[in-house]
Formats: sequence, C-alpha cells, structure tokens
Amino acid sequence: MNKDEFADNHFIRTIIEEDLKNKVCEKIATRFPPEPNGYLHIGHAKSICLNFGLATIYDGTCNLRFDDTNPEKESDEYVRAIEEDVHWLGFEWHKEIHFASNYFQALFDYAITLIKEGKAFVCDLNAEQMREYRGNLKEPGKNSPYRDRSIEENLDLFERMKNGEFADGSKTLRLKIDMASGNLNLRDPVIYRIRRAHHHRTGDKWCIYPMYDYTHAISDALENITHSLCTLEFEDHRPLYDWVIENVHLPNHARPRQYEFSRLELLYSITSKRKLNQLVQQNHVSGWDDPRMPTISGMRRRGYTPSGLRLFAKRIGISKSENIIDMSVLEGAIREDLENNAPRMMAVLRPLKVTLTNFEEGKTSSRAAPYHPHHPEFGERIIPIAQTIYIEEDDFSLDPPKGWQRLTLNGEVRLRYGYVIKCDQVVQDNTGKAIELKCSIDHDTLGKAPEGRKVKGVIHWLSAEHAVAVNVRLYDRLFTEARPDAIRAENGQYKDFTEFLNPHSLEEIQAWAEPIAGELAAETRYQFERLGYFVTDRYEHQKSSPVFNRTVSLKDNWK
Ligand code: ATP
Ligand code: MG
Repeated sequence: MNKDEFADNHFIRTIIEEDLKNKVCEKIATRFPPEPNGYLHIGHAKSICLNFGLATIYDGTCNLRFDDTNPEKESDEYVRAIEEDVHWLGFEWHKEIHFASNYFQALFDYAITLIKEGKAFVCDLNAEQMREYRGNLKEPGKNSPYRDRSIEENLDLFERMKNGEFADGSKTLRLKIDMASGNLNLRDPVIYRIRRAHHHRTGDKWCIYPMYDYTHAISDALENITHSLCTLEFEDHRPLYDWVIENVHLPNHARPRQYEFSRLELLYSITSKRKLNQLVQQNHVSGWDDPRMPTISGMRRRGYTPSGLRLFAKRIGISKSENIIDMSVLEGAIREDLENNAPRMMAVLRPLKVTLTNFEEGKTSSRAAPYHPHHPEFGERIIPIAQTIYIEEDDFSLDPPKGWQRLTLNGEVRLRYGYVIKCDQVVQDNTGKAIELKCSIDHDTLGKAPEGRKVKGVIHWLSAEHAVAVNVRLYDRLFTEARPDAIRAENGQYKDFTEFLNPHSLEEIQAWAEPIAGELAAETRYQFERLGYFVTDRYEHQKSSPVFNRTVSLKDNWK
C-alpha cells in the first residue's frame, strides 16, 4: 500500500520519528486489538488505518489481536467478521492472528509472581462494598480488610479460585497499589474475577478471567509492541498500564508505551458496538451489515470502497482534540473515489412514459456511449432507442418554476447521448397527474446543437422495451438527530437513542436500467447518471433479478 495514503504529520508520527532516531526501537510494532463482541464500525476503521498505516509508513509491523477476555459477549462469528473487514479495508496483519486468550496461562503465572512479591491479594469484598471502599475523586479510598492476607493464604485462595471452589463474583484478585491515589485506576484495581462462562476459544477450561488493563499491557509486551495506540478514554489507565509493565517480569525487557488519540464520532450515526448490537437485536435494521449501519460490513454492502474509507481516515486526521465529523465528509470521500472509478449507465427510478410520435413504430436504432467520460479504456456500450422511452417523473413539470431547464409542455430538452425532443402533448389521469407525454424528435440534433435555438437541459432516459427491471434501495440517514445518543429527557437522563430512528431511512422501489444491469456480478459499482452511485447488493443481487443499493447521491444533500 502507498505510504502517502495515510494521515500526514501528527503527534504520533512525531513520537515515532523521535523514537526511531534515538534508537528506542529499530522497527515499530503496532497492533489493532478489537474485542470480538460485535462487528467493526467506522471508528474502528480510523484505528485500523492508523495502526496498519503507521506500520506501512515506517516499514514496521501491525498485529491483529483479539482482546477476548469477556466470554459472555464474544463469539467466533465476530472474530471471522472482523478478520474479513480488516482484509477488505486492504490490510495484512503480521504473521498469525493473536488472541489475548492465548496468554491466559502466562497471565495466570504472572499473577502468581505478583502475589509472591506481595503485590497482589485475594479480596472478598463484593462489587457494592468495593465501590464504597474505593472512594471518589474528592475522597481517598480505604484499604480492603483483606489487603493484608499472607502470601501463603493469597496463593492458596487464588489457586482455589482457579479450581472453581468459589462462587462467581465472590472473590477477586487485586493489585496492591495505592488506595489514596488521585487516579482511581490505581486504587487496588481488580485483575481477576470469577466467572463461569463458556469462552469461544478456551471453552470451560477457565472460570477466572483477567481484566482488560492487566491483560492488555501484558499482551502488548509479549508481542513486543512498541507503540500501543488507543483512544483517549484510556488516558487515565496509562499509569496502570505502566505499573503492570514495570512490575511484571516480562521476557525481552519489552517496554511498550501507550499513546492516546481522540475517538471518531460521526454525526447522525452511532459508534458503539453495544448500541449497534441493540439496533440488530431489536430488529431496527436487517443485521450488522444492513447498508444503513456505520459498520464496515454495512458500508461495504452500501457500496463504500476501501480506498474511499482510507481517504476519509486520512482526511479526519489524528489528534487529541475532539473528532466530531459530519457525514458529508465521509460521503465526500466516497464520492470522490467513485467519481473516478465507477463506470456509468442510465437508470430511471420513477418512470414517466414518453411516446416519440415521429419515431417509426417497431424500429430500434442505437448509439455508442462511453462508460466514463474521462476513461476511454472503460470502453463503450450501445444505447438503444425505440418509440417508447421512460424519463424520470420529476424531469417533467406542467407548472415549472422559473429557470426550469428540464421538460415542460411545448418545451425542449436533450436526451442524454441522443436527440432533442419537444413535448407536444400531456396525457393526465383524473387527478391531473401526467401519465404519458407525446413528444417529437428533432431528427437533426443527434450529436449537434439544433439550428437557431439553445436547448440547455439534458435528461437521462431509457428505451422502454430494452430497459431491464431492477430493484433499487434508496437510503436516508438512519437517525433524525445529529447526536441521537446524547439527548436528555427533562429528568436529565439520556433518552434511548432508538427514539430517534428515521422511519424513512429505507425506500425500496422497482426501477429500470440499461441492459448491462442484467449482466453484472454482485458488488459491482456504477454511477446511474444524475442519480448517484449504486452497487449491486452483495447478497441479494442476481443477474435475473438485479438489486442495486444507492451508495451516495451525486451531490451533498446533508446541508
Ligand atoms: P465500542 O465502544 O464500539 O465497543 P471499543 O473501543 O470498546 O468500541 P474495541 O473492540 O475495544 O472497541 O476497539 C478496538 C480498537 O478500536 C481500540 O484500540 C479502540 O480504541 C479503537 N476504537 C474503537 N472505537 C473507536 C472510535 N470511535 N474512533 C477511533 N478508534 C476507535
Ligand atoms: Mg469495548
């Protein structure tokens, strides 16, 4: 992958360049560490592009590591989906995939050593008592009454915790750091809890599971990670990360360092696996890969491109300041990528029948047109014309506003790649709606301007008998509020974000397209001229029954 595809200078690059110059490390090693408790979303795409991008820029390596220490919420389905998403975005992880669960034995052994050194103890406080003892930002905590257990007793109890002698939640293993620390994370944090849960990889082997901070620091060290990049909410955890690295006797004297950057928040969207899971579980969407979802698999199905997403990640940059981004930035990057790469065809979403009165009945003629105006190498297709054509309903108006350049009664318009036509007669239904137009062709206007008058408007159209019926799905924003998960009720509580789902986020219509639409493979992208970029659905498209999803319209209509 090209090195300049990634975000230009930012503070993490500066740190890495210093480290390389000062020989803090020879090569950098990063990792992307998702928890397999859901599908990846646009926020993860930012983190993936950062971690894999830095490895690319500095000829280092990036690991894919599943941080699988919460068995109840994790599954193999999520593992597979995450692997697929990372690959699809265009990245290769270094060697084999890593799992935090691979380190369960090592993590256990390090815990034993910590106990032997008097740095960890078994605590019997329950969750509520523990909260009371912890204190808060204003008040120091109190030592647990179990803090001074002897090393022998701690070793015995921890072994028995592992052997399943105690009930879930009845005991924990805690680090002995400082209950008066100004940093709550250092107030004797729990590093093991008892939980009888089936793990997607280790099965029922363990009934104690290590906690995130402890696991993450050691996993980084065991993999010789040099720069451990995470989002800002972990800033307060860094002292604990460092404590673990300093107090556990790690091989190779590995000394990873943690750096934090701001999370991406996308307006009119949600970037939390838990909340996205809620949308799936409550059937507000068809699944994790519903094209309205901000998941990588949803965006893929919507027709977004890997290079468009990488361009987006580059544009939003990396920093420590808020990263709240408008949907128009994401769509702009996708559009820009597609503009240059997607071939074009015509389609009519809401057909209005037009009879060309001076076109010979039963005759077909045709014209070649390029698939892309700036890419002759994309080739050409044949555009047939016959007596009955379809135009877009809203390209005709009986009562047009000022400046109207499309069709109206007695007005003229050019058919894209075709003739200038004039509307001579309108057939209306009993509500006054136009249901058919009778138009005449100016036979002398194929590829040239008409004599003595200007026809400005150009519209798309299809020959009715040659058009292929297609199913089209049009999408609108999923939420009606920019920050659906940050709206408070009168009592100050957050409202449930599903209250702000847009009931019109999906519209399915039967439409028409050029004959080529019946020959495409799934996941093929096209521009429908004047209507936007579309992709054939990854799962439901068939040549005999084409299904197109609108990826993005041609112009920004978020404003
Ligand atoms: P979620 O809240 O959606 O579950 P998470 O941070 O808990 O997200 P992880 O699977 O732990 O999800 O995340 C893997 C990596 O992706 C972490 O390093 C995390 O910091 C990063 N990440 C997650 N969400 C975002 C985001 N919105 N912007 C940037 N990076 C993110
Ligand atoms: Mg998480």
